[in-house]
Amino acid sequence: MSRNRTIKDEFPFKKYYGSNHAWTYDSEEDIYECELCKEYEYVCEVHSEFAWDQELDTIEYIAELLKDRGWDFFSAGGYGGWNNSPSNSHIKEMTRDNLVSIFFCYQTEMTISIDNFDTVSKGYIEMRLSHHDRPMGETMYLVKEDDMDSEDSWEDPQLHAIEKVREINS
Ligand SMILES: [Zn+2]
Repeated sequence: MSRNRTIKDEFPFKKYYGSNHAWTYDSEEDIYECELCKEYEYVCEVHSEFAWDQELDTIEYIAELLKDRGWDFFSAGGYGGWNNSPSNSHIKEMTRDNLVSIFFCYQTEMTISIDNFDTVSKGYIEMRLSHHDRPMGETMYLVKEDDMDSEDSWEDPQLHAIEKVREINS
């Protein structure tokens, strides 16, 4: 059976809100029937492990959807860190683990939000990363890359994604 691959089909995610440490407990989708979860209104410590597994499944699904749309490779960049300096990752293959390493790029508790996936077909995704040093969040872009080698031709590696997005929107 072949899957119908078209760039124009709608992206199943409207919005993604992810975390590596805290998940609100959704009583509508009461999967744990745990009194602690219910009482905290956050997924309790015991169930966090399961919530993290679900998060990984979601991210794996996002990676697959992006691959289906030709995103075999990507890099990520933006202004970040305590001093808001530009930085960019190396080019990575589109896999769950590589996405996880970008979404939760600081070794700390983080949340990530992607308000829309409307720009996937244009070749980029804007996301907002929040953590202790930057509670209001910092903007990072995922950009589609054609291959693993094009990094050598980046004019200003630290500004690569930022400039690519600027170019796409100009
Ligand atoms: Zn629980």
